[in-house]
Amino acid sequence: MWGLAAIAALLVVLHGNSAGSNSLVITAETPQSQYSESVFLPPSKPHPLPATLAQWYDQTNSGDYFLEVKPTKIGYLIWSQFPIKVYIQQPQPESSDAHILQSWAHEVLQAIQEWSVYLPLQVIAQPESADIKIMRSSPPLRIAPNQMPRARSAETSYEFYINSNNLLSHRCSILLSPSQAGQYLQAAARHEFGHALGIWGHSSLQSDALYFAQVRNPPLISARDANTLKRIYEQPTQLGWSLQRRRADINS
Ligand SMILES: [Zn+2]
Repeated sequence: MWGLAAIAALLVVLHGNSAGSNSLVITAETPQSQYSESVFLPPSKPHPLPATLAQWYDQTNSGDYFLEVKPTKIGYLIWSQFPIKVYIQQPQPESSDAHILQSWAHEVLQAIQEWSVYLPLQVIAQPESADIKIMRSSPPLRIAPNQMPRARSAETSYEFYINSNNLLSHRCSILLSPSQAGQYLQAAARHEFGHALGIWGHSSLQSDALYFAQVRNPPLISARDANTLKRIYEQPTQLGWSLQRRRADINS
């Protein structure tokens, strides 16, 4: 029971934060004692810039659209544990549409690998430990603050959790509609993956991968996309830092 109570309490922490508080008192009972624990969300600090982004230099001086990027309640959506683990949906063995899903996964992989120039990525075989999960599935018709809808053909959402090293963490889920294929599938994967990497906003120029709408000739990742990503990773965030806990015995 105690294990369950602790998990429930951790979820409350994050909920509590979205309402504006930054700490929470957990009361728990063990067979030996009863205690309360205060959990404080970490202060907002910048992480060291990953080498891949530190090396990026835009010789064309194209600018960025950083002002269109919105931080979450706990700061910018910045990854700080590398490589970022990515799962792309794989066919079930012996399923009838295995070949469709296989070529789908291959196209998605090509598109997201373009981002590995800027941030270290690792594609993994199991969805459970993924930071970013990409599924071939139609996005449901709903809008919530933690989602980036795009013409109802793709959607990226995030959630916060506390990882096993006590770090305030996030994970992302990308849904790509089965109705898309070819260059449009790749454009959607490239675009949504940009959101998952932290570009939580849109460009107003058609020549950027994070342009808000679908275009006839989808662009690759632009210098402006990369400049924007780099500026995001220079910002402070509460993500990726340790929660502080203070425990007090109520009786013993
Ligand atoms: Zn978008």
